[in-house]
Amino acid sequence: MRNDPFGRGDGQQVRRRGGGLFGNIRWLVLLGFLAYGGCYYLSNRTQDPYTGETVLIDSSIGPEQERALGLQAYKEILSQERPLPKSDPTAQQITEIARRLIAKVDVVTAELAAEHGMAAPEHWRQFEWDVNVIPSEQANAFCLPGGKMAVYTGLVPVARSADAMAVVMGHEIAHALLRHGAQRMSQQKLAQIGQMAGAASGMDPQQQQMVMAAMGYGYLLPYARSHETQADEVGLMLAAAACYDPNEAIGLWQRMSESSGGEAPPEFSSTHPNPGTRIQTLQGLMPKAMEYRQKFCRQ
Ligand SMILES: [Zn+2]
Repeated sequence: MRNDPFGRGDGQQVRRRGGGLFGNIRWLVLLGFLAYGGCYYLSNRTQDPYTGETVLIDSSIGPEQERALGLQAYKEILSQERPLPKSDPTAQQITEIARRLIAKVDVVTAELAAEHGMAAPEHWRQFEWDVNVIPSEQANAFCLPGGKMAVYTGLVPVARSADAMAVVMGHEIAHALLRHGAQRMSQQKLAQIGQMAGAASGMDPQQQQMVMAAMGYGYLLPYARSHETQADEVGLMLAAAACYDPNEAIGLWQRMSESSGGEAPPEFSSTHPNPGTRIQTLQGLMPKAMEYRQKFCRQ
């Protein structure tokens, strides 16, 4: 039997199937959700000035809201940790790297936006930058929306040099500049619309789970990986502009994948690109990074 979502033409036949009318309503509900999802996607698409790529950012998530969420998360994290005092030599070194990177956000933002023929974004000017060093065995770091950063001391022996540390911190700062937090929230909203559509269409829970898993692998995970690649590029340009050696990125990501030994810390987990591919991409970016270094590094 033909399964016509609108029940046109052979409506009688569908209805005779038993529960057919209900089936038609479900199809309509499903179509409604799909149309909503489509509208949501189309009306919240925007071009990112740093990469020129089309991204999804819910226009109702403003940079102020994102900053407020970042600040709240930062307070919560710090309240559970004991950051090194600002006078600690390691904390001072990390603060100095952060200071040099932040000083170049302006020129790197302008240069990348110009490369894509776009106006330079200004949202980062409201950031209230801060960095804390957290004693921990984790080789990890983060920068939240709004510019609040943390470096875990476990990263120091893996980075080995200020240059490599600058590459990691540049990568983290790039996530905040690129508004990846807002993008992730927007994707989750789209995934929720999909989930509601699945439930409304009468899929059984197992089918729904399969669809969600497919969406995760086919859409959300590649998206997360593309965020990592974007952060690698923007971060590398920041590090180079701040007079650090971008070539250190290669050895760094090799050590990072070795040190994680398959058990990667949260930020550097499965969402991060395959180490081989990542190193290849970074090598391809090296000429551009060296140009940035030549152009913007003034010591
Ligand atoms: Zn990352």
